Amino acid sequence: MLCKRPNCNAYTIKNDEFCYWHSKNPEIIRARTEASSKGGKAGKNKPLREDKPIESITDIRQIMTETINDLRAFRIDPTQARAINSMCSNMLKIIEICDLVLRLEALEGIVENIQDQEPDI
Ligand SMILES: [Zn+2]
Repeated sequence: MLCKRPNCNAYTIKNDEFCYWHSKNPEIIRARTEASSKGGKAGKNKPLREDKPIESITDIRQIMTETINDLRAFRIDPTQARAINSMCSNMLKIIEICDLVLRLEALEGIVENIQDQEPDI
């Protein structure tokens, strides 16, 4: 369902006729205020998580799981979650392409070996 606020095309949050940004639910307003105040202090605050390498689909799955949990617990706002989701999608494509390049290089190596062993016709 879409938000009742005119010109807002965002999806509503559970048990609400408005989206996260336009909800009149006091609990959501408090979470929104907290999240935006945290956003304003970004850089001064301790990050939610330590930096870690992102090398595999398993790492991406872990980040997405943490992000979903952080969003549902109102530790991050939907804008932050969307940014993380977008970067995870890009990382998945990069990991996929790197994997394909490695597999292609391995296949090229095998083909070259076979060609070297075959007598010239
Ligand atoms: Zn809205």
